[in-house]
Amino acid sequence: MTLQELRSQVEACTACDLCRTRTNTVFGTGNEHADIMFVGEAPGRNEDETGLPFVGAAGHLLDDYLTAVGLSRGEVFIGNIIKCRPPNNRDPKPEEEDCCIHFLHSQIELIDPKLIVCLGRIAAKRLIDPNFQVTKQHGELFRYHGRLIMATFHPAALLRNPGNKAPTFSDFEKIYEIAKVKNFNL
Ligand code: URA
Repeated sequence: MTLQELRSQVEACTACDLCRTRTNTVFGTGNEHADIMFVGEAPGRNEDETGLPFVGAAGHLLDDYLTAVGLSRGEVFIGNIIKCRPPNNRDPKPEEEDCCIHFLHSQIELIDPKLIVCLGRIAAKRLIDPNFQVTKQHGELFRYHGRLIMATFHPAALLRNPGNKAPTFSDFEKIYEIAKVKNFNL
C-alpha cells in the first residue's frame, strides 16, 4: 500500500461516529520519508475545516519550536492519533482511538521514521505507556518497535500553561541533537 492509498482509506472511513460530524479527515502532512514524525491528539476546528494538522494557534506554536531548532514542516511528518475532529474538541474516546489507531500504525510503517515525538498525553499514553506522565517523563527516550520515541508537552497545553515552554524547548533541542548524532536525513 502507498501513503496515498492509505489517505484514501482514511477519507472514506466510517468506522466510528466521528465521521458524521467531520468536515474533513486530517491525514497528516509533511515529508513522506521523514526521519522524525510528530503525533498529536486529534484535529480541532481549524484542522477539521482545512484538512491539515496543527494549523490553529497550537500549530503556530509548534512551528515556532520547529523553527527554533532549525526544522521545518517539510522535513518532518506531522499527524495525529485520531483523524477526525471530536465534537467541541473533547478528548477522543478510547473506542474512537481503537477504531483509528491502525491508520497511524500503517503511517508509521510506510513513512518509517527513526524518531516519533508524541505531542501531549493522549499520544504518549497510546504509544508509550498508558500510565505516561508528561510532566515527569517528557524528553525521556523510549523504544517503539525498534524506533526511538519520546513525548513533549502538547502545544495547546503550553498556550494554557506557558510555564512549560522552557522544558519544551529543551525537548526540541534534544530532538535536534538526536537528529544530528544519528545523522537523520533532514
Ligand atoms: N491538536 C492536535 O492534537 N492535533 C491537531 O492537528 C491540532 C490540534
